[in-house]
Amino acid sequence: MGRAVKQEQAKPLPVIPPGGTTEGGEREMPIPTELVGSLPRPAKLQEAYQEYDDGKITFEQLQAEQDKAAQDSIERLEQTGETFVTDGEQRESSFATYPLTHTLAGTGLADNLAGDGQYFAIFDDGHHRQLPRLTGGPFRYQTFASEFVEKNKEIASRPVKQAVISPSMMMLLYPLEGEIDGYSREQFLSDVVDECEKDVRKCFEAGAERVSIDFTEGRLANKNDSRNPWTGRDMLQDFIDLNNRVLDRFSVEERRNIGVHTCPGGDMDSVHSKEVPYEQLLDHMFKINAGYFLIQCSSEDDREKVYKLCGENSREDANGVQQVCFMGVINPLSPDVETAEHVKNELVTAAKHIPVERLGATDDCGFSPFSRDEKPRHGSPDFARDVAMQKIVARIEGARLASEELGA
Ligand SMILES: [Zn+2]
Repeated sequence: MGRAVKQEQAKPLPVIPPGGTTEGGEREMPIPTELVGSLPRPAKLQEAYQEYDDGKITFEQLQAEQDKAAQDSIERLEQTGETFVTDGEQRESSFATYPLTHTLAGTGLADNLAGDGQYFAIFDDGHHRQLPRLTGGPFRYQTFASEFVEKNKEIASRPVKQAVISPSMMMLLYPLEGEIDGYSREQFLSDVVDECEKDVRKCFEAGAERVSIDFTEGRLANKNDSRNPWTGRDMLQDFIDLNNRVLDRFSVEERRNIGVHTCPGGDMDSVHSKEVPYEQLLDHMFKINAGYFLIQCSSEDDREKVYKLCGENSREDANGVQQVCFMGVINPLSPDVETAEHVKNELVTAAKHIPVERLGATDDCGFSPFSRDEKPRHGSPDFARDVAMQKIVARIEGARLASEELGA
């Protein structure tokens, strides 16, 4: 299919304007929906990652498998009716490490990094995920997410979104104690902000319509887990300030399409910080000057409390942008498929607390933020991919039903 044909197809699709009205303001748009970013990698792709780690295949051969899975992700997402599509992060070692390493085992690690960094998270089922450790300056990304956007634009007929990692996650690459010889913490943070800005900007330049920043470390920052020292350092405000150093470099127009995703983690069908009271995060998170937020909620026990907190804390005017709250109505860690009716009811409840023009629907998290993920509760990653598509259909249909009921 030629590019011109694809562009023609893309035209009549609704681009969701911030605030939910068309530019003229005459017509209300339905409640927008957006996925976080990732989908389970097919078992075959996960095997290819292992073979690459084992030196049995080349990086080019791994990339060929990634490309196949990415194409399948985009085609299947387009069939669901998803407004913005992604490759499901099939080409990424993880949502957090794609700039730094080809695989989670550390094959293809960038310069100035070693494999043995801090635990980014210890999950409830006991498994953990580790970050690399910075050994010297300067800190530079090896891979920018725009590389994926460029490839996805070649395939997609719908608008493309891309998730990127936050500066606050990158902050954890620097040792918690002391300074690296010849590379001060201050210089490092300044380099992090530069690289994150570049990452977002290049995604837009490559044609992404939406870019969301993954901020899973936000909730974890109040966990006080003695096994994981950084979670006891009261770092949330530093995280927020660092994210704003990046966001402040973008115009109001750009920030309308820059989001922030919060969740208590999602890996191997397990979480890392769900016991941290949400108030401790939501009181602060909306200080980030982003235009929209993708907020885990469906797996919370008291969802209405979360809607209320989001209604109270999200801002009409965050340095010129209205903050839209995309509430999680789908739980990617459970193989049970939500019904559209359930999604509708959740959104109608949410609309009691959040103005409908600032309400959207999302999933609690990416469906598989890490490239090696067996999805144990699902039985297999291949099955989990099918389930993910069914869940996305339920989200989209439920948002449509809620829009009707609420007259949005
Ligand atoms: Zn998440």
